[in-house]
Formats: sequence, C-alpha cells, structure tokens
Amino acid sequence: MDAQQTCTALNDAELHAFTALRRQIHAAPELGGDTPHTAELVAAKLQQWGYQVHRGVGGHGLVGVLRKGQGSRRIGLRADMDALPMQEKNAFAHASQIPGRMHACGHDGHTAILLAAAYRLANCPFNGTLNLIFQPDEEGLCGAKAMIDDGLFERFPCDAIFALHNMPGAPVGSAVVQAGPTMASSERVEVHITGKGGHGAMPELAVDPLPVVASLINAIQTIKSRNLAPEEYAVVSIGMLQAGSVYNIIPDEASMLISVRTDTPQTQQKINQRLSEIVRGHEQAFGVGIALTFTQLAPALINHTAETEQVRQSLAPLFAPGQLHSRGPKVMGTEDFAWMLEQVPGCYFMLGNGEGEFHGCSVHNPHYDFNDELIRLGADCWYKLVSDYLI
Ligand SMILES: [Zn+2]
Ligand SMILES: [Zn+2]
Repeated sequence: MDAQQTCTALNDAELHAFTALRRQIHAAPELGGDTPHTAELVAAKLQQWGYQVHRGVGGHGLVGVLRKGQGSRRIGLRADMDALPMQEKNAFAHASQIPGRMHACGHDGHTAILLAAAYRLANCPFNGTLNLIFQPDEEGLCGAKAMIDDGLFERFPCDAIFALHNMPGAPVGSAVVQAGPTMASSERVEVHITGKGGHGAMPELAVDPLPVVASLINAIQTIKSRNLAPEEYAVVSIGMLQAGSVYNIIPDEASMLISVRTDTPQTQQKINQRLSEIVRGHEQAFGVGIALTFTQLAPALINHTAETEQVRQSLAPLFAPGQLHSRGPKVMGTEDFAWMLEQVPGCYFMLGNGEGEFHGCSVHNPHYDFNDELIRLGADCWYKLVSDYLI
C-alpha cells in the first residue's frame, strides 16, 4: 500500500490489503522474543508511510513515531506480535506454514489493526506525538518488560498508553472498557524442602520431606478458601511436584512449583505472606528446611480511571447502544501490558471477536482464528482515540 492522499476511513481495497497482511503474518508465526521477520514487515510498512522507525527496542521490539503540529501531548498505542508454540488444526489457506507454531491468540490481528490505523493516521491531522509500540513475547510475559528495561518510556515518553485484545465468544461490534483490575497477575513460587535422606527401612534415621509435601498441599488449599474474603479473586494452583527416585530410598529433598494469580497487588501480598507463614510452620513441625522463591512474571493489569473514561467516550460513537460494556467476564489470565501500565497511565480494552464455533473459539485453541472483520473496527477505534487525545 502506498501512502494515501486524504484522511478518510479505509476503503474496501485497503481493507482487503490489510486482511491479506494479517493472513500473511498468520501463516508465518514467530515465537516469543524471536520475531525478526514480523518486526521487519511492520518496520518497512511504517517507514513507507512516513513514520520514524526505531528497531531493536528490547530485542525485536520496535517503535514507530509520527509528530504533527505543535502539541506537546504524547500517546502510545501498543500491539503484540508473537505466536504460540502449538500445532494449528485449521485447514484454511492462511493456516500456519510452520509446524508447532500458531497465531492462536490473535496477535497477528492486533498487529494488522495497529498497522491499518498507522496507515490512516499518516495522512490525518492530529496535534502531538504518536508512538506506535510493537512488542514481541507477550505470551512469555517478557516482551513489555524487555522494552521498558531498554528505555522505552525514556526514549519515547508517553502521557498515556493503550492496548486492545480480541475477545472470542463476544459479538463483533461489542467491547469491554473496564476501569480498575482487568487481568490477573502471574507469579511463580518455588518451594524447596530439604530433609535428610536414608534407607526406606529406617525412617527413624531420616527426615522425610514427602509427608511435608502432603501436608503443604492441604495447607496451601486453605489460603483461598479460609484466608481470603469471597470478593478477593485469586488462583493458587500447585502445578509440579518433584521428589525421590525409587521405592526404598527416602529422598533428602523435594520441590513444588505453585502458580499464584490475583487481580490486585494487595491480594497477592496476602497470599505470599500466608505461604511464608505456612512454610515456616512446617519447618518447625517437621524439622525440615524450606526455601521459598517468588518470581513475579507480570503484575495485575489495572486500568487507570481517567484514561479508561477517555477510551469509553472516544469509542462510544463507534458502537451500538448497549454494546460498550464497562464490566467484562472475570478473567484470571495474564497480560504483560500490565508492566507498561505500571509506568504510564492507560487502558487495555477488549473487542468481541465473534460468536459460534469458529470465531467464538477460545484463544490458545488449535482451531482459533482472528476475525478479520475486526480490522476495520479496531483501526477506527485507534483512529478515534488518537484524534481525540492529540487535539
Ligand atoms: Zn495468549
Ligand atoms: Zn493474547
């Protein structure tokens, strides 16, 4: 696509071209932080339309900058570019050409939407600085952090930042723009128990870590059921246990991995404190040593009130009455845009991807596909928000 001449909504030919682009990205998925071809495709388009392109921000992240007028306001729009390590089971022509890789979360669509908006905005008036942020490795929850650590907001300061995600199961033409807690934090907790190994026939000479594991599993279940109030959202799942080798040796150590998800930092802090207390109690009761290691993969995503209101007001004319919801279904999935919202106020909102067997199919499912109908609506949303913000 060459740069267009006037500031108009995308015509059918342009939409067709962005649909083809989305499908091209879908067919050639790249994983995690390793997204050189997708990033280069994005960079080339932005450059062609007059954006100043900064490659290599936190790996293959890139930022396209466009300044117009004398305005001092700066807005950031972010799209994710990475796919998932899974086998696609769709048979359509644009299905993944690479075994074991698939765009099953619609990041191909988010990238196409932001490019379509970039194309339109290149020839539309606005007053200020537009920063388009394309990040890799959202699924690994490392891409946003890598860009921030590489000076994203020092090099490209933003007064507000925004991102969107498609939402299968909700009709096209519906959206959720929700203030406050919107996606869950994700924390990995490693529990390492050190006892004293010995012969299975002589337990009195050993300190067996396995009864400790059994007791810990039960005790940890009480955190959500007994320590949190009913309105506090949390998931505490033990996903891995490791101990021992054969039937007649008492192992000297055991370990567990726990996934902790909450929708506020306060709840997360409560859970971490209870985990620590339970572990200290077990050390006393069983005579073992227990080391706890907390790794924050992403914080809870909390939308800022003023920026959420801005999105709601800007988007309202694009949706039929009753289709712009201020509350969505509770989701305990995690989104690494949360790291960016810790640095800069903003809002992450969701657009319905469609209903039924096909477009209603859940993300991360081998039959999922992004709904191309969303390209027009998504680009309109970005265009409207930028026009209203950079005034
Ligand atoms: Zn995903
Ligand atoms: Zn996603």
